[in-house]
Amino acid sequence: MEKKSKPATMKGVSETFTGEVWIDPIVTGEEPSRIRVNSVRFSPGARSAWHSHVLGQTLCVTDGVGQVQTKGQERVIIQAGDVVTTPPHEVHWHGALADHYMTHLSITEGVGPSDEPETNWMQHVTDEEYFGE
Ligand code: MN
Repeated sequence: MEKKSKPATMKGVSETFTGEVWIDPIVTGEEPSRIRVNSVRFSPGARSAWHSHVLGQTLCVTDGVGQVQTKGQERVIIQAGDVVTTPPHEVHWHGALADHYMTHLSITEGVGPSDEPETNWMQHVTDEEYFGE
Protein backbone atom coordinates (compact mmCIF):
# COMPACT_ATOMS: atom_id res chain seq x y z
CA MET A 1 0.00 0.00 0.00
CA GLU A 2 1.18 3.48 -0.75
CA LYS A 3 -0.14 6.84 0.28
CA LYS A 4 0.40 9.01 -2.77
CA SER A 5 1.51 12.61 -2.63
CA LYS A 6 -1.39 14.74 -3.71
CA PRO A 7 -1.09 16.41 -7.14
CA ALA A 8 -1.92 20.10 -7.20
CA THR A 9 -5.50 21.10 -7.93
CA MET A 10 -5.84 22.33 -11.52
CA LYS A 11 -8.16 25.07 -12.70
CA GLY A 12 -10.51 24.13 -15.52
CA VAL A 13 -9.47 26.27 -18.47
CA SER A 14 -11.85 28.77 -20.09
CA GLU A 15 -11.49 27.08 -23.48
CA THR A 16 -13.41 24.05 -22.19
CA PHE A 17 -15.35 25.28 -19.14
CA THR A 18 -17.70 28.14 -18.31
CA GLY A 19 -17.38 29.47 -14.75
CA GLU A 20 -15.09 28.27 -12.00
CA VAL A 21 -14.13 24.60 -12.13
CA TRP A 22 -11.39 22.84 -10.13
CA ILE A 23 -9.93 19.45 -11.00
CA ASP A 24 -8.12 17.07 -8.64
CA PRO A 25 -6.39 14.16 -10.37
CA ILE A 26 -7.11 11.01 -8.33
CA VAL A 27 -5.77 8.21 -10.57
CA THR A 28 -3.68 8.51 -13.71
CA GLY A 29 -2.91 4.93 -14.70
CA GLU A 30 0.54 4.04 -15.89
CA GLU A 31 0.87 1.76 -18.94
CA PRO A 32 -0.63 -0.70 -19.57
CA SER A 33 -3.39 0.84 -17.45
CA ARG A 34 -5.12 3.79 -19.12
CA ILE A 35 -7.59 4.69 -16.37
CA ARG A 36 -8.13 8.33 -15.55
CA VAL A 37 -10.08 9.40 -12.47
CA ASN A 38 -10.50 13.08 -11.69
CA SER A 39 -12.58 14.76 -9.03
CA VAL A 40 -14.14 17.81 -10.68
CA ARG A 41 -15.74 20.57 -8.59
CA PHE A 42 -18.11 22.97 -10.36
CA SER A 43 -19.09 26.28 -8.74
CA PRO A 44 -22.76 27.28 -9.06
CA GLY A 45 -23.49 27.97 -12.74
CA ALA A 46 -20.25 26.40 -13.95
CA ARG A 47 -20.33 23.75 -16.66
CA SER A 48 -18.24 22.00 -19.26
CA ALA A 49 -18.40 22.84 -22.94
CA TRP A 50 -20.13 20.37 -25.24
CA HIS A 51 -17.82 17.40 -25.77
CA SER A 52 -17.56 13.65 -26.31
CA HIS A 53 -15.24 10.92 -25.08
CA VAL A 54 -13.52 8.49 -27.42
CA LEU A 55 -14.04 5.58 -25.00
CA GLY A 56 -17.04 6.93 -23.07
CA GLN A 57 -17.17 8.18 -19.49
CA THR A 58 -18.65 7.34 -16.11
CA LEU A 59 -19.54 10.15 -13.71
CA CYS A 60 -20.17 9.54 -10.00
CA VAL A 61 -21.57 12.55 -8.18
CA THR A 62 -19.96 12.92 -4.75
CA ASP A 63 -21.42 16.24 -3.60
CA GLY A 64 -24.01 18.83 -4.46
CA VAL A 65 -26.52 19.06 -7.29
CA GLY A 66 -25.87 19.41 -10.99
CA GLN A 67 -27.11 18.48 -14.40
CA VAL A 68 -26.08 16.58 -17.48
CA GLN A 69 -27.42 16.78 -21.00
CA THR A 70 -26.96 14.66 -24.08
CA LYS A 71 -27.30 16.55 -27.38
CA GLY A 72 -30.92 16.50 -28.48
CA GLN A 73 -32.26 15.31 -25.11
CA GLU A 74 -33.63 16.90 -21.93
CA ARG A 75 -31.33 18.02 -19.13
CA VAL A 76 -31.17 15.54 -16.24
CA ILE A 77 -30.65 16.58 -12.60
CA ILE A 78 -27.88 14.68 -10.81
CA GLN A 79 -26.94 14.64 -7.14
CA ALA A 80 -24.66 12.89 -4.69
CA GLY A 81 -24.66 9.14 -5.24
CA ASP A 82 -25.88 9.29 -8.84
CA VAL A 83 -23.86 7.45 -11.49
CA VAL A 84 -24.14 8.48 -15.16
CA THR A 85 -22.54 6.66 -18.06
CA THR A 86 -21.91 8.17 -21.48
CA PRO A 87 -21.18 5.90 -24.46
CA PRO A 88 -18.24 6.57 -26.78
CA HIS A 89 -18.62 9.64 -29.01
CA GLU A 90 -21.96 10.78 -27.50
CA VAL A 91 -22.03 14.60 -27.38
CA HIS A 92 -22.95 15.97 -23.94
CA TRP A 93 -22.07 18.40 -21.15
CA HIS A 94 -22.12 18.33 -17.35
CA GLY A 95 -22.08 20.98 -14.66
CA ALA A 96 -23.52 22.43 -11.47
CA LEU A 97 -26.97 23.88 -11.06
CA ALA A 98 -27.08 27.68 -11.02
CA ASP A 99 -27.58 27.71 -7.24
CA HIS A 100 -25.57 24.67 -6.11
CA TYR A 101 -22.04 23.41 -6.13
CA MET A 102 -21.56 19.98 -7.71
CA THR A 103 -18.60 17.64 -7.49
CA HIS A 104 -18.26 14.43 -9.48
CA LEU A 105 -15.66 11.81 -10.12
CA SER A 106 -14.93 11.52 -13.84
CA ILE A 107 -13.76 8.07 -14.89
CA THR A 108 -12.35 7.71 -18.40
CA GLU A 109 -9.67 5.79 -20.25
CA GLY A 110 -6.78 7.20 -22.20
CA VAL A 111 -6.88 6.22 -25.86
CA GLY A 112 -3.45 4.66 -25.93
CA PRO A 113 0.22 5.47 -25.98
CA SER A 114 -0.33 8.00 -28.75
CA ASP A 115 -1.11 11.64 -28.02
CA GLU A 116 -4.66 11.22 -29.29
CA PRO A 117 -6.94 13.16 -26.94
CA GLU A 118 -9.48 11.23 -24.89
CA THR A 119 -11.98 14.11 -25.06
CA ASN A 120 -13.16 15.96 -28.17
CA TRP A 121 -14.11 19.49 -27.12
CA MET A 122 -16.73 21.55 -28.94
CA GLN A 123 -18.55 24.87 -28.42
CA HIS A 124 -19.44 26.29 -25.00
CA VAL A 125 -22.86 25.66 -23.48
CA THR A 126 -24.66 28.99 -23.92
CA ASP A 127 -26.82 30.63 -21.24
CA GLU A 128 -29.80 29.87 -23.48
CA GLU A 129 -28.93 26.17 -23.44
CA TYR A 130 -28.10 26.22 -19.72
CA PHE A 131 -31.14 28.15 -18.52
CA GLY A 132 -33.60 27.41 -21.34
CA GLU A 133 -36.42 24.89 -21.42
MN1 MN B 1 -18.05 14.18 -20.29
